[in-house]
Amino acid sequence: MNSDLFQLTVFGARGSMTASGTEYSVFGGATSCYLAEAGGESIFLDAGSGLIGAPTRFAGTPVILLSHLHLDHILGLGMYPRLAAKGLRTRLYMPAETGSQALNLLNGIYSPPYWPLSLTEYAGELEVEPLRLPFRIGEVLVEGIRGRHPGDSMIFRLSYGGKSLVYATDFEHDGESLSKLADFARNTDLLLYDGQYMNGEYEGHRGFGHSTAEVGIALKERSGARRLLLIHHDPGRKDRELLDAERRLGRTDIRFARQGERITL
Ligand SMILES: [Zn+2]
Ligand SMILES: [Zn+2]
Repeated sequence: MNSDLFQLTVFGARGSMTASGTEYSVFGGATSCYLAEAGGESIFLDAGSGLIGAPTRFAGTPVILLSHLHLDHILGLGMYPRLAAKGLRTRLYMPAETGSQALNLLNGIYSPPYWPLSLTEYAGELEVEPLRLPFRIGEVLVEGIRGRHPGDSMIFRLSYGGKSLVYATDFEHDGESLSKLADFARNTDLLLYDGQYMNGEYEGHRGFGHSTAEVGIALKERSGARRLLLIHHDPGRKDRELLDAERRLGRTDIRFARQGERITL
């Protein structure tokens, strides 16, 4: 790609659990995984099952940023072909106090009897580091705030060349957390927001750690974000419902994320 561009590719936008079947062919059934490319850097936002279909070759060392460790955000690591390729290095940053604590947390799932081997036993080289925000990956600035979610989740802002995106997944709104997020996402070019539920469904899911498409739309206006991409689609949400919701909105600056789409900021 042209290294002056800032692009985002969606490899998985499904929330909580994978979905499969013909009713999921437009928006996809793979879980959270996005690739941000800017300034020659390749930065994955989460490693859900979408990671399995992501590219494996990059000019430099790709980085994976994990928002948190819920299964739908780490499901793809075990089957990402790059990790099994000898001589290829991948760096992963995740919420933890130390590198060894981070590795222990990942190995809690990626070890027998849950999985045949730990991620550091693969032929490729995986470096696991604790998140220390803010920091830079090359010329890309990575900032973060803590999101409101069971066990917490990190919300990231990536900035490069005067453009930025904010990745706000697994976030349940309340007055205070929404104000904080509106400030954090101020005037961003692309806001990715947890729109797992629609307004009428939220009451029955209060405390589950997710938000609504309608709150995302209000947040877009409040923060001055240029575009909104609604993500973390409920596993039961079929293509027809998302297409209908988009049609009702009738906006080109607000969409539900489609697996496989690429957006230039
Ligand atoms: Zn999730
Ligand atoms: Zn979660």
